[in-house]
Amino acid sequence: MTSPKSFLLTRHFQAGEIIFSEGDDGNFAYIVEEGQVEIWTVVNGDRRVLNVLEPGRLFGELSLVDWQPRSASATALTDCMLSVVTPEQVSQRLEVADPILQLLLLVVMENFRSETSIFRGTRASRPTSLHPTQTRPLIQQIADAVDLIRLEGELRDAITADQFCLAYQPIFHLHHRQLEGFEALIRWHSPKRGWVSPDKFINLAETSDLIVPIGEWVIKQGLADLKRLNEQFQTDLLMSFNIVSRQTESPTFLSWLLETVRHFDIDPQYVKLEIIERTLFNPDNSLPWIQQCRAEGFSLVLDDFGTGYSSLQYLNEYQIDRVKIDRSFVKGLADNLNSRSICLAILNLAHALGMSVVAEGIETPAQLAILRELGCEYGQGYLLGRPLPLEQALALSDRLAV
Ligand code: C2E
Ligand code: CA
Ligand code: CA
Repeated sequence: MTSPKSFLLTRHFQAGEIIFSEGDDGNFAYIVEEGQVEIWTVVNGDRRVLNVLEPGRLFGELSLVDWQPRSASATALTDCMLSVVTPEQVSQRLEVADPILQLLLLVVMENFRSETSIFRGTRASRPTSLHPTQTRPLIQQIADAVDLIRLEGELRDAITADQFCLAYQPIFHLHHRQLEGFEALIRWHSPKRGWVSPDKFINLAETSDLIVPIGEWVIKQGLADLKRLNEQFQTDLLMSFNIVSRQTESPTFLSWLLETVRHFDIDPQYVKLEIIERTLFNPDNSLPWIQQCRAEGFSLVLDDFGTGYSSLQYLNEYQIDRVKIDRSFVKGLADNLNSRSICLAILNLAHALGMSVVAEGIETPAQLAILRELGCEYGQGYLLGRPLPLEQALALSDRLAV
């Protein structure tokens, strides 16, 4: 059998030649380019033709997805030319596919296989997984994915049911030790699940359109609370919001944002938008968006810096105001020379390009001391302040100089 690495892009078969047989390991799928292919199986000892495929048709795809042996045989009816679809082409796409789509595919395939096995009078071999490396049993995968579908439904109701709130994590100037402002972090209290971490639901909201109303709720609430914080602290503080690509790609987001800051009478210079590199992938969208943001006076923070592609191209082309050193580098600062070198490199690079730097996830005095020594201007983390409900954030004014 041809190994996946040494496949030919096209393969030729002569009339009557077997392309694959039922029970073979599934290695490729094929597209009929020329000729005709017969798909057949054996029922009670009789050869039964299931289909005759003409040019343009795809076959053999199931086993690429669920890694089960071929459930039917394929023979060239005439001389054929076939294009080969490799497992890599399918698995890479599956890995990044929406988890709900993955589930539906799994269920459709399971139903298809059990129906064809009933037709043939054999027992269906159950697909074990969508990925060969996936070790969780199918039943658990389906349960997890069904729960995701439920979660999405509950998330849809959460805004109207008033189940979200915001936590504010203070951001400090590390040298003057002064409060610069806060990062708004969403919290969801679900009546069924209790507190659900944003790590669990933001990605899900992002794969649907839900992130747009959720994101709007966050900004409105965050700006309303910023007004109260400003009054309490008797100064203009800064509010940082996490923004995802669905929002930056929305043609109305920026005008909505402008209207909203005007409504709250807040100058855009006090609003920071935190984006991750993934959001910048599409330069046709993101470049004009960033330019417009900057022109309107909003500033941009590149979040989780160092964990993604960290393409210097972004820093070169996009007018980013600040980079946020990811907490994985801060974590290793006190005992790992590499983390220290990476933080220093990020700081040098950002400063050379006229950007400021904020470090996140500062948990120990040693980390803080090193960041100060390296010249990092801003910081946030449990050591300096945990994300707090508004009332507790307001109460900080008693003990923090601004
Ligand atoms: P992020 O933007 O990287 O936010 C920082 C996360 O680190 C927050 O987790 C924060 O609570 C946590 N954190 C802060 N200081 C420390 C520390 O010293 N040590 C450790 N270990 N963690 C610390 P959280 O609140 O669970 O949020 C997780 C992620 O969810 C955020 O990561 C952000 O990507 C996303 N998120 C939160 N709120 C929103 C939102 O309103 N909109 C969007 N689009 N995403 C949000
Ligand atoms: Ca952030
Ligand atoms: Ca971050």
